[in-house]
Amino acid sequence: MTGNEIRERFLSFFERKGHTRVRSAPLIPEGDPTLLFVNAGMVPFKNVFLGLEKRPYTRAVSCQKCLRVSGKHNDLEQVGYTSRHHTFFEMLGNFSFGDYFKREAILYAWEFLTQELGLPENRLWVSVYKDDEEALRIWTEEVGLPEERVWRMGEEDNFWQMGEVGPCGPSSEIYVERDSSEERFLEIWNLVFMQYNRDPSGHLHPLPHPSIDTGMGLERIASVLQNTPTNFETDLLRPILAFGEEITGKAYGQDYLTDVALRVIADHLRALTFAVADGVIFSNTGRGYVLRRILRRALRFGYKLGVYEPFLYKGVDTVVRVMKDAYPELIQAKEYVKGLIKVEEERFLQTLRRGMPAVEELLQKGEKTGVLDGKDVFTIYDTYGFPLDLLEEMAREKGLTIDMEGFEREMNLQRERARKHFKIEAKQIKPVYSHLKELGKTSRFVGYQQYSSFTKVL
Ligand code: ATP
Ligand code: MG
Ligand code: MG
Ligand code: MG
Repeated sequence: MTGNEIRERFLSFFERKGHTRVRSAPLIPEGDPTLLFVNAGMVPFKNVFLGLEKRPYTRAVSCQKCLRVSGKHNDLEQVGYTSRHHTFFEMLGNFSFGDYFKREAILYAWEFLTQELGLPENRLWVSVYKDDEEALRIWTEEVGLPEERVWRMGEEDNFWQMGEVGPCGPSSEIYVERDSSEERFLEIWNLVFMQYNRDPSGHLHPLPHPSIDTGMGLERIASVLQNTPTNFETDLLRPILAFGEEITGKAYGQDYLTDVALRVIADHLRALTFAVADGVIFSNTGRGYVLRRILRRALRFGYKLGVYEPFLYKGVDTVVRVMKDAYPELIQAKEYVKGLIKVEEERFLQTLRRGMPAVEELLQKGEKTGVLDGKDVFTIYDTYGFPLDLLEEMAREKGLTIDMEGFEREMNLQRERARKHFKIEAKQIKPVYSHLKELGKTSRFVGYQQYSSFTKVL
């Protein structure tokens, strides 16, 4: 079954169960300052769960674009090293807003997996929150699972929350047992029994109506049905891995570190394409900065495989080809996305090229003591604009740490110098401006025109 088919099966299954099909919201959450990116299918429905917003339906089903690269759910550093994590992924979910609760949620999930998809029952395991006797009873008595296949887990695993504040509740998760993967029990589906709203002081308040929020990773269920060792060999990602193979001239499945790099590139390419298409632009703060980190990480793994030229932008075509049927918005955004990514790649590769020899030297020096000298790290950061997070990750890969105190000390000295300098400069600059003003010269903002002609050229 292809990824596209599974997505459609899920949506139409729950439509038949009275759910309204809702299109994926963009990756940028609407009017939610607590969150940088949509990280779960429930996010666009947050206010409905809280009782602040009414919709013309009480049951919904969606396949939501998600990005887990910041805040409570951040999988960025995992990606490449595990078989099951992405930054960008699609979450299939069915929702009840004060309509059905635990019993139906569990029975629907079971029916979908065992009857609609035909997964063998004896391969499925579940977990429940340790105090949730009701869920345990439904699984054992109504579904008929033997009790030893139901794990009781604590808060860490089976109490789901979107962020530090917001809707939350105990959950029950479904795992598939597999022989062919390094992960014997693969978590595929999380059923959250939304009962509380956590306030900023950490207190739980009951929601107006107990509700249901479920989430199943499309790539994971595809990997189960297509029987692949990781998500990356499914039809949703394999063509993008192939793009990386073509660019780097390295084959997938031969060498562990090459595979990690190819997985990172494939994953980050999807994330970049979708995020830029949804309106995120590279910058030094907030969303734009996270996007920048994703791009840099992908480039660095490309660099490791010997690619020193911009290449990610070329992979956008492949992402769009694979995903366009489900997300037609990509078709129109394609050229814009490529242009933005290319410019950012050029800029960063220049930084890498200039800083790399000094970084190599620094790492070699650090290997003797296990610690990178804070002052040296600062010099590289300051001279080449080499990003600190990247230095940290490179140090970590070699089992080294950075003397952050030393780094901060240099940073403060630098700030002090800048402040003094600024005072002097300010005195010098002012007369220039007042002189210009006297001459009647003003400046005109041309960003909009130039920006749009820029995108046209692309
Ligand atoms: P894991 O324990 O594997 O990190 P999770 O418990 O953090 O997953 P949930 O927050 O319960 O994940 O999200 C619901 C479902 O979304 C998961 O059961 C899984 O199928 C999918 N999922 C979660 N994180 C990712 C990810 N980074 N990449 C791909 N799929 C994911
Ligand atoms: Mg996780
Ligand atoms: Mg989990
Ligand atoms: Mg989970």
